[in-house]
Amino acid sequence: MNMPKCSLLAFAFVILPSNLLAVSAQKSTDDLVQCLTDRTGKNVTPTFIRVIHTPQDRTYTPIYDLLLQELRFMTNSTPKPQVIVTPLIESHIQATIYCSKKHGFQIRIRSGGHDFEGSSYISKVPFVVLDLFSLNSINIDIKTATAWVHSGATLGQFYYAISQKSRNLAFPAGYWSTVGVGGHLAGGGYGALLRKYGLAADNVIDALIIDVNGAILDRSSMGEDLFWAIRGGGHGNFGVIVSWKVKLVAVPEIVTVFKVNRTLEQGATKLVHKWQYVAPSMHEDLTMTTNQ
Ligand SMILES: Cc1cc2nc3c(=O)[nH]c(=O)nc-3n(C[C@H](O)[C@H](O)[C@H](O)COP(=O)(O)OP(=O)(O)OC[C@H]3O[C@@H](n4cnc5c(N)ncnc54)[C@H](O)[C@@H]3O)c2cc1C
Repeated sequence: MNMPKCSLLAFAFVILPSNLLAVSAQKSTDDLVQCLTDRTGKNVTPTFIRVIHTPQDRTYTPIYDLLLQELRFMTNSTPKPQVIVTPLIESHIQATIYCSKKHGFQIRIRSGGHDFEGSSYISKVPFVVLDLFSLNSINIDIKTATAWVHSGATLGQFYYAISQKSRNLAFPAGYWSTVGVGGHLAGGGYGALLRKYGLAADNVIDALIIDVNGAILDRSSMGEDLFWAIRGGGHGNFGVIVSWKVKLVAVPEIVTVFKVNRTLEQGATKLVHKWQYVAPSMHEDLTMTTNQ
């Protein structure tokens, strides 16, 4: 074939760097894993629970898929993390922050995985998913009507834990039981008790956050400005929020819930129109919502 010399040269020029890039990307992932392994002690804890998961591990895909709530991101073309870390203790989070910074990886923090845009498990640059689902403990103090709850717990786990301790206390947060406490409280969080008690974030009284330098801060050490910011603007913007101290609120032992279904033919439009005027002026013990 009569191919001019210059095209052959250009071809060689293009192929070589892409191979080199792949090799250097693999090398930085290996360096990251080595750093994480060194810093978390061993990858496997005394109870044989794995903390670091790479695509070569059998645990990687099940963990990645476990909390992937948006089906539209369940595709082969969705960018996947180079590593998933499932911390069991705070120092595993500190190790992830240190090693990701050192080796140039972005961190995506995932609590319950319900982010509508997949921001807890997708990135356009090489990244690590810090998946908090194992950090899910809940400590309730009935006497003070407060609780410390880890970000990796779900709303359902939290509601259930409260119900096991008291039939007259609750936490005012969202309707959906699989939503993660981490992303929910960091973004606001509304549910059936909104009218009486406000957002979930309004009922947070302390929090533990690990910042970009790996420092663990509580309300007094982070300061009131940051404490204000993480209750609404906390989605991965200021650090990893490990746990939250919240106020529990008083509820009656029995509540009544009912549903009225109306089609368009049965006057649903008129009903929704009316609802907008009536709902805000009702007694705060009554919440009215519309669903499709
Ligand atoms: C089916 C469904 C039902 C819903 N119902 C309600 C409802 O009733 N009321 C309501 O108010 N909202 C509701 N939402 C919205 C939900 O509250 C938000 O999407 C919330 O951010 C999800 O939190 P998550 O931890 O599950 O999600 P994730 O995807 O894990 O996190 C959401 C965002 O927060 C960041 N983040 C997560 N954990 C941390 C952490 N520990 N520290 C710092 N940043 C963190 C993530 O990086 C991501 O950007 C619902 C969403 C879905 C999909």
